[in-house]
Amino acid sequence: MSAPTLFLDSWAALRSVPRTGQRYHAMAAPRPFELGDGGVTALAPRLEWLRAVKSGTMAPADYFAHYRAQLASISAQLAPGWLIVDSGALHDVYDGDTICCSCKRGTAPGLFERGPSCHLEVAAEELRRAGWRVGLWGGAPW
Ligand SMILES: [Zn+2]
Repeated sequence: MSAPTLFLDSWAALRSVPRTGQRYHAMAAPRPFELGDGGVTALAPRLEWLRAVKSGTMAPADYFAHYRAQLASISAQLAPGWLIVDSGALHDVYDGDTICCSCKRGTAPGLFERGPSCHLEVAAEELRRAGWRVGLWGGAPW
């Protein structure tokens, strides 16, 4: 049996991509229309880091290093069957679900010039390590 699949994508892209699973966010500060079917807050960066990187007081590389360390510290919770939606009722993230950010397919112009352009790109690596197949930005899951 193959590993379950998670899709990581932008809210904007989902308007034109048919998917059957639930749609969650993994954002520090989602706007009301970005809440979807709930939040996977284990995958959300801390709001203070987001504010710091956007205001220029934290380097993007440090932002991603903090985020990578956050995921590494909870790696067991990222595995299929353990990753949960924790806004509203607690339930599992299932095969075929999509987790979204507001970044448009990983492009945040002027913010992250090198390295990842969105925290979901870091999350994709960690989720694969935890046992998911991951389709990032509309690419085929692997
Ligand atoms: Zn993003």
